[in-house]
Amino acid sequence: MMSTAPDPPKPNPRQSSGFLVTTSLPDRLPASRLQQGDTFALPEHPDEPLIIDLITPNPERNASLLISTRDRTAPITLHMEEPIQPLRMPRTFNVTCQLCEATTTTDLELVAHGQPKTWVCNRH
Ligand SMILES: [Zn+2]
Repeated sequence: MMSTAPDPPKPNPRQSSGFLVTTSLPDRLPASRLQQGDTFALPEHPDEPLIIDLITPNPERNASLLISTRDRTAPITLHMEEPIQPLRMPRTFNVTCQLCEATTTTDLELVAHGQPKTWVCNRH
């Protein structure tokens, strides 16, 4: 068994797997970018964060989404192009190294970290 004594923090090349350049997310996104688990606000109600429990195409209206949120009994209908204010959008990406084309998976929260643009792995 390994010792459980605390080690001083040190860079671990197997954990810090590379360098990621991101671009910041716009203040408004079309509703079609939302996924289950995201948090967003309607631009007219910026102080009311909505957490998505379920998001499905609206069967009764073309290009519309039916969004069930926590704390609300009735789902919201939004057009796919309708602008929303993103608050929290956790995503998992496969990124490809610009230099050696090795791929890796990375977790990002788009509002806090931005969208992945360029990835360089730590072999360079
Ligand atoms: Zn590489």
